[in-house]
Amino acid sequence: RATRGGEEVRAYVPSMGQIFLRRFQMVTQFRQALEEGQVSVHYQPKVSLPSRQVLGVEALVRWVHPEFGKLDPDEFVPAIEAAGLIGVLTGFVLEQALIRVRKWMDEGLRISVAVNLSVRNLSDLDFPKKVVEALRRFGVPAELLTFELTESGVMADPQKALPILRELHALGIVLAVDDFGTGYSSLAYLRQLPVDEVKIDKSFVLGMGTDLGDLAVVRSIVELGHSLGLTVVAEGVEEDIARDQLEAMGCDVAQGYLISRPLAEDRLEAWLQARTA
Ligand code: C2E
Ligand code: CA
Ligand code: CA
Ligand code: CA
Repeated sequence: RATRGGEEVRAYVPSMGQIFLRRFQMVTQFRQALEEGQVSVHYQPKVSLPSRQVLGVEALVRWVHPEFGKLDPDEFVPAIEAAGLIGVLTGFVLEQALIRVRKWMDEGLRISVAVNLSVRNLSDLDFPKKVVEALRRFGVPAELLTFELTESGVMADPQKALPILRELHALGIVLAVDDFGTGYSSLAYLRQLPVDEVKIDKSFVLGMGTDLGDLAVVRSIVELGHSLGLTVVAEGVEEDIARDQLEAMGCDVAQGYLISRPLAEDRLEAWLQARTA
């Protein structure tokens, strides 16, 4: 406990033991949390530039824990991953996402969904088979499903990741490199990956208004992406000016708080209706 001017400052700094215990609880309680409906999926729209048409949504997992409250996916996803439970999490998110796309299809809407994968999903050789089975079960065409994978995830073990990525790609699933620009600059590798899309990491997009270095990175990813025939997506679009700059550079797709925050399913429906009304 620190003191400032004689006054006690109660900064909550969890001890190692508390962090360990919390992670342990998350991991042991995850399956039960799924059954009890504590875990859900929110969706964040992606719009095309310059038309602003809604092309798709990204599925983002949410967990409201009865004791800890809203858990940050950046905290619990790695814990679930390390515990070998990522297949369960991905299976849940994928199923929810495909149910959502199916409902849109039944309403005559063509909106795709992107699901985040962990590199550990690619250790499961049956993963592509499970995905095909899920697409069939809900009658969703592969083109309406995107998988987002981080650059560092794929590069950690390309020998293992590549065959599975090729299999998914051959099925017609769209593959995106997430957080692009943050990992080891694997520009040469990008050519060899069966990817369709690059997502510029939000740190560069958030910084491009004030930092010329960030602006240069964004500009060069747009150019590089296009020269490789890829769709370029910018995440973290929070300001009009960022969207306008991205549009001027020829960036294809924008995602961020300016367009919409990630929304629960009912709120997303209301958002979509308000836009098309
Ligand atoms: P990500 O895939 O890079 O997702 C983008 C994150 O940026 C999301 O955080 C989103 O809410 C946030 N974001 C979106 N627009 C803006 C913006 O304009 N400004 C700012 N500052 N942030 C924005 P979230 O939902 O907390 O997820 C964090 C990370 O957790 C994700 O990063 C992803 O790596 C992981 N994650 C989330 N859901 C899943 C999932 O279902 N499976 C896996 N494997 N990972 C997931
Ligand atoms: Ca993502
Ligand atoms: Ca990202
Ligand atoms: Ca991220």
